[in-house]
Amino acid sequence: MKAKTQEELIYLNMTMKVPYKWRTGETMGEFFRELKENGIIYANQCPTCGRHFCLPKSVCTRDHTKCTERSKWIPVGPKGTLVTYFMAEQSFLLPTTGEMLKIPFAVGIVLLDGAAVILQHQLEETDTEKIKPFMRVEAVIKPKEERKGNIYDIVHFKTIHE
Ligand SMILES: [Zn+2]
Repeated sequence: MKAKTQEELIYLNMTMKVPYKWRTGETMGEFFRELKENGIIYANQCPTCGRHFCLPKSVCTRDHTKCTERSKWIPVGPKGTLVTYFMAEQSFLLPTTGEMLKIPFAVGIVLLDGAAVILQHQLEETDTEKIKPFMRVEAVIKPKEERKGNIYDIVHFKTIHE
């Protein structure tokens, strides 16, 4: 049997741009709408166990109860306590923006006042000598005209001294 000859393949070296959108869902949509319109960070409450979630959840992670009742929403923060943090010291391509991460970059795990579940977001402070677990922080929210209705409406968390 005669072997089939291999076809020469043609390669295109190019970068494709594929813009896309995805639906936030009712719960996160409401959270982002409040953040954009009023600059308020909200948590929602599970009607069964009473925990407050920020970011809000459609379903409780503990008892699987639906948490969609709007009357159970409360404003939390903008102050909170830094539980822990991590540093990015090597840059990488950010999938949400297509830009390289500016380093050093500190990410805080913050328990907002009034919430029972932590929120992960950028810290303003990047000096590891000045970042301490349980220090107080406060969300810096963009001016209204710059907000877009996404998590980056919170610029970062700055250190506060109370
Ligand atoms: Zn629950």
